Amino acid sequence: TSPKEWEAADKYFNNLLIPKDDALDAGLAHADASGLPNIAVSAAQGKFLHLLARSIGAKRVLEVGTLGGYSTTWLARALPEDGEVITFELEELHAKVAAENLAKAGVASKVKIVVGPAHDSLLKIPSEPKFDLAFIDADKESNLEYFVEAKRLVRTGGIIIVDNVVRGGRVTNPEHPQYDSPGSEGVRRLAAALKDDKEVDSTVISTVGDKGYDGFLYAIKL
Ligand code: SAM
Repeated sequence: TSPKEWEAADKYFNNLLIPKDDALDAGLAHADASGLPNIAVSAAQGKFLHLLARSIGAKRVLEVGTLGGYSTTWLARALPEDGEVITFELEELHAKVAAENLAKAGVASKVKIVVGPAHDSLLKIPSEPKFDLAFIDADKESNLEYFVEAKRLVRTGGIIIVDNVVRGGRVTNPEHPQYDSPGSEGVRRLAAALKDDKEVDSTVISTVGDKGYDGFLYAIKL
């Protein structure tokens, strides 16, 4: 199956299931015009995160990797008025663009952006009150460190999602030119640690679509 077919399938279902969204479209355009990389989750994936948060009645969400606030907006919209997303971002510019986009999308009151290296910031977050959902989507080499903090911060029965664990096959295919990259190594380090981790139960779902061939790691906190 070619990437063109993956794109066509996403387009087909998105046209039917995801109404045109001026705030999200404008946010992506603003991020692009501000020079941010085009590495947000796809629309289908954003909506998946949104539905997941609604499915568990999430009130508190933790996100590592804000970029321009695209996935943040999807997540924030899933929360009640008194819900909160705390999202961590290294780059000042990304955080500024995200804050502007979140304000335009009308969800700024539900989102707190913490600027700086996410691991340092996460270590300062108290263990209570717990979060219902964590979405990890930043520098892949630090996946395990982020996951350990997410486990500390997410409630029993809560969900931890890690994006980009398949990465076009580079994580598992030794022939791939990026197999030895720190990012690929970061995903394998996380997967190896999860093998005997009795605090979570996990699986990986591969995904294809307009953002290529990739996958989500999905874990619940036991
Ligand atoms: N979740 C976003 C979305 O789907 O709209 C995309 C996030 S993008 C893939 C990854 C983000 O992580 C980038 O904005 C990058 O600046 C940020 N990042 C990279 N290293 C980081 C670190 N050490 N701490 C916090 N954020 C980091």
